[in-house]
Amino acid sequence: MSFKGKVVVVTGSGRGIGRSIGLGFASQGADIVVNALHAEHVNRVVKEVQGLGAQAIPAVADVSTQRGVRLLFDIASRQLGKVDILVNNAGMNIVKPAVEFSEKEWDRVNSVNLKSTFLCSKAAAELMIPQKWGRIINISSIVGINPFPFRAPYATSKAGVIMLTRELAIEWAKYNIQVNAIAPGFFKTDMLIDRIKEGTINEKAILRRVPMGRLGDVNEIVNLALFLASEQSSYVTGQVIAVDGGYTAYGFVE
Ligand code: NAD
Repeated sequence: MSFKGKVVVVTGSGRGIGRSIGLGFASQGADIVVNALHAEHVNRVVKEVQGLGAQAIPAVADVSTQRGVRLLFDIASRQLGKVDILVNNAGMNIVKPAVEFSEKEWDRVNSVNLKSTFLCSKAAAELMIPQKWGRIINISSIVGINPFPFRAPYATSKAGVIMLTRELAIEWAKYNIQVNAIAPGFFKTDMLIDRIKEGTINEKAILRRVPMGRLGDVNEIVNLALFLASEQSSYVTGQVIAVDGGYTAYGFVE
């Protein structure tokens, strides 16, 4: 699978799943626009991508705002001339009872997870429509399919990402833009480690509940992202695929 000559924008690629997806595309020859909130994270990943022999452009920008998205896509089009593949990965979570969420917290989680996906997809489509080729991969969550308690804005935003995926897929199919979503299960990135540390998730309970009995390896998400961006998936659009060791398929009560 070669992505030589393709330009890939990965939001939130300063660490975790986004970083691994960026490195995965770079290892197949793509040029990467590395985006996150913190310059030190972005610069570190830029160096890692360059170490693989690919071009990497840093773009420190907050994709939850129109201003940040404009900045990100200006950098991409000015420095690399186009965008072929967009991975909407930036995300955040706040865990607390629904009655304790403030309006500001609700707006923040939904802006980072859902509004950013819309704004970045729109900016990417403006570049993809004229070239009649594009792939958009949205990182949702199993929580957008089967809700967990104390995650009202997160679960809602991730369910919204799934519907937005379908909506954009049917609208942009005629431009040869395929839009699909990945719903990760449990992967031991900083995000999950934070939840384990604050005691809002229990690793042993996860392992009991996941039919495959283990956490995911981030490369298992990278492999699906590469497949969804490749010609191997040329008739797949508007789909959400869980990478969760069977979690969402399981319905038994023990
Ligand atoms: P992470 O917290 O390790 O990384 C998130 C990255 O997004 C960071 O680099 C951060 O700087 C960036 N980011 C956050 N807000 C941003 C903004 N407004 N603008 C630009 N960048 C921003 O998280 P992760 O575990 O790698 O998660 C990546 C995605 O996968 C998220 O959308 C998350 O909801 C989803 N996900 C993760 C898991 C898991 O088990 N880790 C499970 C399901 C879904």
